Amino acid sequence: MEDRLRDAVRDLCDRYPDEYWRELDRRGAYPADFVQELTDAGYLACMIPEEYGGAGLGVSEGGVILEEINRSGGNAAACHAQMYTMGTVLRHGSEEQKERWLPQVARGDLRLQSFAVTEPDAGSDTTRIQTRAERRGDVYVLRGTKVFISRVQHSDLMVLLARTTPLEEVEERTDGLSVFVVDLRRAGDALQVRPIETMINHETNELHFDGLEVPAENRIGEEGEGFRYILSGMNAERILLASESVGDGLYFVDRASDYASEREVFGAPIGSNQGVQFPVAEAYMKVRAAAVMRDRAADLFDADRPCAEEANSCKYLASEAAWEAANAAMDTFGGYGMATEYGLERKFREARLYLVAPVSNNLVLSYVGQHVLGMPRSY
Ligand SMILES: Cc1cc2nc3c(=O)[nH]c(=O)nc-3n(C[C@H](O)[C@H](O)[C@H](O)COP(=O)(O)OP(=O)(O)OC[C@H]3O[C@@H](n4cnc5c(N)ncnc54)[C@H](O)[C@@H]3O)c2cc1C
Repeated sequence: MEDRLRDAVRDLCDRYPDEYWRELDRRGAYPADFVQELTDAGYLACMIPEEYGGAGLGVSEGGVILEEINRSGGNAAACHAQMYTMGTVLRHGSEEQKERWLPQVARGDLRLQSFAVTEPDAGSDTTRIQTRAERRGDVYVLRGTKVFISRVQHSDLMVLLARTTPLEEVEERTDGLSVFVVDLRRAGDALQVRPIETMINHETNELHFDGLEVPAENRIGEEGEGFRYILSGMNAERILLASESVGDGLYFVDRASDYASEREVFGAPIGSNQGVQFPVAEAYMKVRAAAVMRDRAADLFDADRPCAEEANSCKYLASEAAWEAANAAMDTFGGYGMATEYGLERKFREARLYLVAPVSNNLVLSYVGQHVLGMPRSY
C-alpha cells in the first residue's frame, strides 16, 4: 500500500517539475493547478473518515504524501493544512458540524486551509493571545490581531483560537480559550488581511479582526476548552510537517549525491573527496533516523496512543536533518547552488521554515527537557 501510494504521488509530482515551482516562486504565485490536482486525486482528504467522504487513512499515509511532494522538489506547504486542520472539527466538533463541513472538504468544494493561532504580542506563548471572542446572543464578536496566518487567500474556512475569558479571570492560563470555524467568505470589512512578504513563496498574512461576528454554532466543543483542542491537533501537524522535512532532506541528498558523482574538478568527480562525500552521507543518515522517529510517531498517533514525545522529537530531528542536508548540498554545488536555475536555493530557503514553524525548535527542546525528562520548567 505504502509503495503504491508513493509511486502514485511521485507520478503526479513528475508533472510539476522544478521549472513550475521556480516560476511560481519568482512571481510569488500560488500553485493552483498542483493543489487542484492533489484535491481531485483525494490526497488532501486522505485523513477524513470514509463516512464523511474521505479515504479514512492515517497520519502515516498523509506523511507519505507530503514527504513525496517535497522530495520531488515541490512545496507541500501550499496545501498541507487541508489535511490536518479538519482534525479539530473531526475530534471535537458536534455531529452536525462534521456533517456540515467534512463531506464538502472531502469533495474539495470547501477549502479548510487556514489555522490561526499566532499573535504578534504572544509569539510562542500561546496562552497570552489577546484576540477576544465576546458572546452577544447567537454570535461571538471577534476583535484582535493575528500574524503569520497562512493560505487565508486560498481558503474558505479558518480554524481560529481566541480568548473567551480574559487571562486575569481564569485559574489556569490554558483556560478561557475557545476554537471557532470562521467563514472567510462572509467576513467582509470586519476582517482585514495584510499579506506579509517572506523569503519563501508562502502566502501568509497579518489579520485584523474588527468586530467580526461568528455564529455561536461555529464554536467547536466547549467554550473555554479550546487550548486542549488545539494541542490535540498539534501532534498530527508536527508529524506531517516532519514528513515534509524528511522529503526535503532526501531531495537535498539525492541532488548532492548525483551532482558529486558527475561534477569533475581536478580530474576527478568531486564526490571522490571525503570532504564532499562525508557531509552528504552524514546528513543522509540523520534524515533516515528522523524518518524512523516520524514513522514511530505516526504509528502511535494512528493507534490513538500518546505520541507527544515522538511527534515533537520527529519534528525537531527532521527539520534539523533537512537543514544539515540543505547545507551539505549547497556546499556540494559550490557556486551553482546559488544559481536559481539549479532549484537548490529555493528549496534551501523553504527548508529553513521548519526550524521555526509550526513550533520553534527551542520550544521542542523545552518540551522534552521538562515533560519527558522531568527537569524544571525553563520559561
Ligand atoms: C511562513 C510562516 C508561516 C506561518 N504560518 C502560520 C499559520 O498558518 N498559523 C499560525 O498560527 N502561525 C503560523 N506561523 C507562526 C509560527 O508558528 C511562529 O512564527 C512560531 O511558532 C514562532 O513564534 P514567533 O515567530 O512569535 O517567535 P517567538 O516566540 O517570538 O520566538 C523567537 C525566538 O525566540 C525563541 N524563544 C522564545 N521563547 C523562548 C524560550 N522560553 N526559551 C528558548 N527560546 C525561546 C524561539 O525559539 C525563537 O527562536 C507561521 C510562521 C511563518 C514564518
